[in-house]
Amino acid sequence: DYQQLIHQRQEALRLKQPYEYDTRILQKDGSYRWIHNRSQFFFDDQGQPLGIRGTMMDIHDRKQAENRILVSEENLIRAQALAHIGSWELDLKTFQGDWSDEMYRIYGLEPRAEGSPAPSFEESLQYVHPEDREKVRTHARMGQEEELEFRLALAGGEQRHVRVLSELYHDENKRPYLLRGTMMDVTAEKKAQLQIQEQMEQIQEANERLAALASIDGLTGLKNHRTFQEKLSKEFARSRRYGNSLALLLLDVDYFKQFNDTFGHPAGDAVLKAVAAKLQGQCRVTDLVARYGGEEFGLLLPDCSPERLTSCCERLRIAFTDVELIGLKVGNLSLSAGMTLLELGDDLDDALQRADQALYRAKRDGRNRCAAAWENVDA
Ligand code: GH3
Ligand code: MG
Ligand code: MG
Repeated sequence: DYQQLIHQRQEALRLKQPYEYDTRILQKDGSYRWIHNRSQFFFDDQGQPLGIRGTMMDIHDRKQAENRILVSEENLIRAQALAHIGSWELDLKTFQGDWSDEMYRIYGLEPRAEGSPAPSFEESLQYVHPEDREKVRTHARMGQEEELEFRLALAGGEQRHVRVLSELYHDENKRPYLLRGTMMDVTAEKKAQLQIQEQMEQIQEANERLAALASIDGLTGLKNHRTFQEKLSKEFARSRRYGNSLALLLLDVDYFKQFNDTFGHPAGDAVLKAVAAKLQGQCRVTDLVARYGGEEFGLLLPDCSPERLTSCCERLRIAFTDVELIGLKVGNLSLSAGMTLLELGDDLDDALQRADQALYRAKRDGRNRCAAAWENVDA
């Protein structure tokens, strides 16, 4: 510090002015101690310097405290940069702000020189995404303390997500005068969240596709056996609860083994597809048509009287007799059907069994016909 001190003293002598300085004094034990010196030359009548008069103050503790603050300020700046967290203040009377360096970086700006004011609130709003401006303005106007997230739209088109936490300070009259808080750049977090969300949606879509595939019969595109059973028990429960009628129909292609043997398995497959198309074409959307097994089909018809069921069944049977297969001349294709209606106090398995027995009778009585479970059953 010595050179500086000499220079200062010479200047003071030349200008005949008092001078002051902080300096370190070497102690006996080799350590230094900070002092503050304030001195002044005094002169004789001719203006010749006679001596120096001054005061010396021990400012060691204050100086150390200042240094500690400087170090902790530096640490704070470094920590803010690492965590992408800036700190800010907003004077609610003047709407003037004070920003830490990291705040400027988050806004994509050069930190302003020490002592110059931070961008005003209105100025900083220019960097907020237009759709989020009103939200930010309301938040500041209300002096709200809750967490707020919004987007910044920076020069050059870059978009950032930030999260603000704030605290409100009140004066003696309990009037809010200062909003102070932190701003965290959460862009990376948001991006990761969006990616996860997108992946979840893709997984859900894939699951829905799989579920749809798992419920469908590959050859005919109808609902498969498992889905039919599920739907059957659901519809049964519903019909029982509301006392609605429900009809169950089992259809089976006649002499299909023989058909396969004559025309080959691929032709057989074409027949099954044709049956599926016919059945679906004849049914209402509320009806459920399923492939129950090999060449057997199951139908579930809500709100169905015995008359309507019988005529529907006949219509299906007749529709199938003139089924056409592309590039194949087949005659004598027919269906047999067994029908039943849900009865009071019914059991699902009982109903299925009744339909199956009716189908058996239709076969036994010569095929290409419909038999109903409620018709007289002769042993
Ligand atoms: P019935 O009139 O008594 O029903 O005689 P059926 O020959 O139709 O009955 P059976 O149960 O003896 O034979 C059913 C045939 O259906 C045997 C089987 O090869 C055929 N089948 C089952 N599933 C398929 C399939 O997916 N494709 C083809 N082409 N044939 C099938
Ligand atoms: Mg058959
Ligand atoms: Mg069969």
